[in-house]
Amino acid sequence: MTKPCFRFAPSPNGHLHIGHALSALLNVRAAVALSGRFFVRVEDIDQTRCTPQLEQDMFEDLAWLGVPLDEPSPRQSEAFPFYRAALEKLQDLGLVYSAFLTRSEIKTFVTEYEADGNTWPRDPDGAPLYPGDLAVLSEEDVQIRADSDASFALRLDMKKALARISSDLCWQEAGAEGKSLFDPGNRVPVEADRWGDVILARKDTPTSYHLSVVVDDARQGVTDILRGQDLYHATSVHRVLQELLGLPEPRYRHHRLVLDADGRKLSKSNQDTSLSALRADGLSHADLRRRIGL
Ligand code: GLU
Repeated sequence: MTKPCFRFAPSPNGHLHIGHALSALLNVRAAVALSGRFFVRVEDIDQTRCTPQLEQDMFEDLAWLGVPLDEPSPRQSEAFPFYRAALEKLQDLGLVYSAFLTRSEIKTFVTEYEADGNTWPRDPDGAPLYPGDLAVLSEEDVQIRADSDASFALRLDMKKALARISSDLCWQEAGAEGKSLFDPGNRVPVEADRWGDVILARKDTPTSYHLSVVVDDARQGVTDILRGQDLYHATSVHRVLQELLGLPEPRYRHHRLVLDADGRKLSKSNQDTSLSALRADGLSHADLRRRIGL
């Protein structure tokens, strides 16, 4: 059996919060319990929001947590050629198209559509599904944008993608806390159509979260993905991309989220739950474990 390999994959686009601490520690614990590997991956494809200072602060937080940092920590910003190659593979399969509507054009379209009491479909994160350029623009306008320097996103044609793969595609959800790490868990059917035509890259960013995460997990030999419940539904998109790109299927475990006092998801901008701010205020390891329920 291959040695299990876990990763913690934060984005240094803000300070880590105590929910990240839970995720990192669960990964380390699982890797130790299964005599597996563990490494940190820096997900810094958003080069405007991720900064060297935030990355350094992140590593200080992780060292304080006792997260082992002896394995190299690959950076996504150094792996763009790998994402480009994967994107080209999907383009060669005829599954990628340029989409020219801006966020505000999509928003206006949806608002107008819903003004009559209709409901426009939304993805599991609550974002409206892409309506297609022609829902807003004429064919001529699309051509003008294509011929100009207009910004665009490269989207996966989800209908065409799903037609290429088995209709009973699933993922293996092994569960997180409260379940034995040896419990294989259960198969969860993929529902990628709920996401519509997801973004794979943009004019100025040659990849997206979905594309880079599947490419990296495969090339870095990750066998076990243990991450927050907020990414549970994204697994459907990841399984579709793995199938299309011929990548191996990892095991998934989605863990509970640490919520704020109002029961909301933590945000990186909130100082009350920022690890570095709490540490500066004298947070102890025992306080932290209590706050995150470990
Ligand atoms: N970089 C993602 C985040 O910070 C996590 C990616 C993953 O674990 O798949 O939310």
